[in-house]
Amino acid sequence: MAILNVLTIPDPRLKLVSQPVTNIDAAVDQFIRDFVETLQSFRGCVGLAAPQVDNPLRIVAIDVSVSRKPHPNHGLMVMINPEIVASDGSELMREGCLSIPDFTGNVRRSVQIALRYTDPTGKEYNLETEGFEARAIQHEIDHLNGLLFLDRVSSLKDDVFRRKNYL
Ligand SMILES: [Zn+2]
Repeated sequence: MAILNVLTIPDPRLKLVSQPVTNIDAAVDQFIRDFVETLQSFRGCVGLAAPQVDNPLRIVAIDVSVSRKPHPNHGLMVMINPEIVASDGSELMREGCLSIPDFTGNVRRSVQIALRYTDPTGKEYNLETEGFEARAIQHEIDHLNGLLFLDRVSSLKDDVFRRKNYL
């Protein structure tokens, strides 16, 4: 087990498109253990994408249950090759990202999504979710396509905010 190093902007590796996982082999299995441990090492962090820890594969981990505010959620989910197949609604909300430690931003996202993904045992899932959990999943899937929330804000001047320092 290991805590992995999280890349931050302007690292060019955050802008790459990640590759599908074709075989959940021992290396992928070990990576997922370290990846989940890394996510859980950041208190209150609800999601992480593999390219953020320098692994260019289509894997994300989501756990909205650890958010400071309660939100309906499905607990910890590790999603391999996640794909959004339907979405509805639109909502503007503030987001943060471990890879953008100094800023938050107002980002417009779908309210409801349906997606399919494979779990680490190889089982395929269809999931419908909404609200904060749906937002977190959309944010993490963006990372797989080389997109950061800064690429989604309408205005860098009006919709991006410097984080206060927590000491
Ligand atoms: Zn992020």
